[in-house]
Parts: sequence; structure tokens; C-alpha cells
Amino acid sequence: MVDFGCDFCRDDQNRLYGHVTQIGSSEARQRILLKCPRCGTLYENTPRGPDETQQLTPAEARRRYPDAPVADTP
Ligand SMILES: [Zn+2]
Repeated sequence: MVDFGCDFCRDDQNRLYGHVTQIGSSEARQRILLKCPRCGTLYENTPRGPDETQQLTPAEARRRYPDAPVADTP
């Protein structure tokens, strides 16, 4: 169960078709880091294939994606 930040990123189509901004990726984790352009909520998802969206806190995102530009507050 994911607690989506707003209706834009709640919409599967927006997350799966690149309308939610990708700000990082991890080959080791085989995941990408996404940030909603509307509400700033951070998500981790698979780069392709089945949707496995997980919401991340900024602290979690920084830990998993040290190179990504993650702000302290969304
Ligand atoms: Zn949003």
C-alpha cells in the first residue's frame, strides 16, 4: 500500500510512462528513483516491467541513491 502524495502521481499512467520525473537510478538495486513534479513525493520503482512503486522518504532516497539530487524537504 503506497501513500501517494497527490492525484498526479497516484495515476499509474503518469508513473509508468515517464510523466513523473526520474532523478536517479541504481543498477545494484535495479530500481529507479522518481519524484512527482506536482507534489515532490519520492518513489522507487522498477525501470520497466511490473509496477512496484514504493514511497521513499528523502532520507531513504539519499541513502539508496547517493548521487541523486534529493532535497531535505519535498
Ligand atoms: Zn504527486
